Amino acid sequence: MGDPRGFIKIKRKEAGNRPVEERIGDFGEVEQTLNYEDRKLQASRCMDCGIPFCHWACPVHSKIPEWQDALYKGNIREASLILHSTNDFPEFTGRVCPAPCEKGCVLGINDDPVTIRENEAATVERAFIDGLIIPKIPKYRSVKKVAVIGSGPAGLSVAARLNQYGHYVTVFEKDESIGGLLRFGIPDFKLNKKVIDRRLKILEQEGIAFKTNSHIGKNISAKQILDEFDAVCITIGAGKPRDLNIPGRELKGIHFAMDFLSQQNKIIAGYSIPENNRISAKNKNVLVIGGGDTGSDCVGTSNRQQALSVTQIEILPKPPASRPPETPWPYWPNILKTSSSHEEGCTRLWSLSTKRFIGENGMVKKAEVVSVEWLKDENGKYIMKEIPDSTQIIDADLVLLSLGFVHCVHEDLVNELNIETDARGNIKTSNFQTSNPKVFAAGDSVSGASLVVRAIFSGRQAADSIDEFLKK
Ligand SMILES: Cc1cc2nc3c(=O)[nH]c(=O)nc-3n(C[C@H](O)[C@H](O)[C@H](O)COP(=O)(O)OP(=O)(O)OC[C@H]3O[C@@H](n4cnc5c(N)ncnc54)[C@H](O)[C@@H]3O)c2cc1C
Ligand code: SF4
Repeated sequence: MGDPRGFIKIKRKEAGNRPVEERIGDFGEVEQTLNYEDRKLQASRCMDCGIPFCHWACPVHSKIPEWQDALYKGNIREASLILHSTNDFPEFTGRVCPAPCEKGCVLGINDDPVTIRENEAATVERAFIDGLIIPKIPKYRSVKKVAVIGSGPAGLSVAARLNQYGHYVTVFEKDESIGGLLRFGIPDFKLNKKVIDRRLKILEQEGIAFKTNSHIGKNISAKQILDEFDAVCITIGAGKPRDLNIPGRELKGIHFAMDFLSQQNKIIAGYSIPENNRISAKNKNVLVIGGGDTGSDCVGTSNRQQALSVTQIEILPKPPASRPPETPWPYWPNILKTSSSHEEGCTRLWSLSTKRFIGENGMVKKAEVVSVEWLKDENGKYIMKEIPDSTQIIDADLVLLSLGFVHCVHEDLVNELNIETDARGNIKTSNFQTSNPKVFAAGDSVSGASLVVRAIFSGRQAADSIDEFLKK
C-alpha cells in the first residue's frame, strides 16, 4: 500500500463535466479528465481496508486495491496489466460503468469512496498513450473455428479470449459497424466511438475476423454457420423493446428510444438517414416515458437536438436521495440518480401512468397521464393504484418509449436454431451452453438487458466454457 494515510489527507476529487452551455452544443464526451498527478493522489485514497468489498461489488471482480497501488506509484504498466487481467475493455467500463464498486468501497461507509471508475479510465488511457496496449498475437493456433454472432461487449470479450486461446474466431454482426449498443445505443457524449475503433484495430491485428452486414438467420442461414464452425456463440443482446399498447399508440411521432438514439449515433458516424425516416426532437415538446438510463440518454440527445421542452416520466415513485435501509452498504442502493443529461434541462415526474396519446391529423400532440400510488398487499407485494381525479395532460409532439427490453429477438436466429428459451424469453443456458450442445450464448441475450460490465464478464466465462468444449 503506497500511502496508508492517503484517505485522511486527500479528499475525493472528480474530474467533473464540461459546462452545460458548452456541452449541449455538441456530442463530444461530457466528462473531463483529471491530470495525472491528481489521479495518482486519488488512487492513494484506497486505504488497505483488508477485505475489499469493491472487488466483490465489481461484476468482473477487478483487483481494485492492487491497481490503485500501482497507479499511485506511477507504475502504469502494472496497473494496466492488473486491470486487463479481469476486464478485456476497461476503456469502456471506465467511461460508462455505473461503478457498483464505488458503492461497495469501505471508505464509502462514512466518507466519499475512491474514484475507482475515473481511475480506471485514466489508467487505461495513460497505458494507450505510453504504448503499453498493443496487439498480443497468439503464439499457437488450434484447428478450431468459432463463430460469434453479435458484436456488443459480450461478443467482443468472447472473441478476444477465444482468440487468445488460439482458436480462429469470426464475429458476425447484422449492423453496418461493430460494437453493439456501445456503437449504436450509448450516445457519443458518454462514449466516443473512436474508443471502440481503437480497440477493434487491436483485435483485428490479433487475428479476429469481423463481418458486418451479416444478419445470421436472415441473410446468412444459421445452418450454414453451424456447418462451417466447430462452435457458435450467440451474443445478440436483448433487442426486443417493451411497448405501450394504449389508445393512440398508432399516432405518428411515437418511437422506441433505441430507434431515436441509434439514428443520432449513425448521423454522427456519417451515415445518411432519409429525411422521411428522420426522428428529430428539434423545436418539439419531447416526452420520454421511462425513468431509467436509456430515458436519460434520450433527454441528453433531445437537448442536443434543440428540443423545445423535455419531460421524463416514470411509473414508479421518486427514489430517496440517500441510501435506504433495504439496501445497506455495500449493496447497490436504489437512490435518485441525476445524470449529466438531467442537469442539462428536463422536467422529471414520478408515479405517473400513461393512459392514452392524443393526436391531431394523425400526429401525436399530447399524452394523458394519471398519478398512481404503490401500496403493499397482505403478501408484501406492491400493487399500483390510480389516484382518483389526478389526470394530467402533457404536451408531447415527440414521444420516446424507454420502457426497457423484454428479451432477445427470437425471429430469425433463435427460431431457426430452435434453441430453448427460459420463462422470461431469454436464451436458456447451462454453463453458457444452450439446448444445442454446439451453440453457446452470453451477455444480455441470456441475462436480459443489463450492463456493459456484466456483458464483458459473461463473455469471458462463456469463452472458457467454449474452450473446454473444443478441447474434448
Ligand atoms: C441506450 C442505452 C444506453 C446504455 N448505457 C449503458 C451505460 O451507460 N452503461 C452500461 O453499463 N450499460 C449501458 N447500457 C446497457 C449495455 O449497453 C448492454 O447491457 C450491453 O451492451 C449488452 O451487451 P451484449 O453484447 O450482450 O449485447 P449488445 O450490445 O446489444 O450487442 C448485440 C449485437 O448483436 C447484433 N445482432 C443481433 N442479432 C443478430 C443476428 N441475428 N446476426 C448478427 N448480429 C446480430 C446486434 O446488432 C448488436 O450489435 C445501455 C443500453 C442502452 C440501450
Ligand atoms: S468495471 Fe465498473 S464496477 Fe468494476 S472496477 Fe470498473 S467501474 Fe468499478
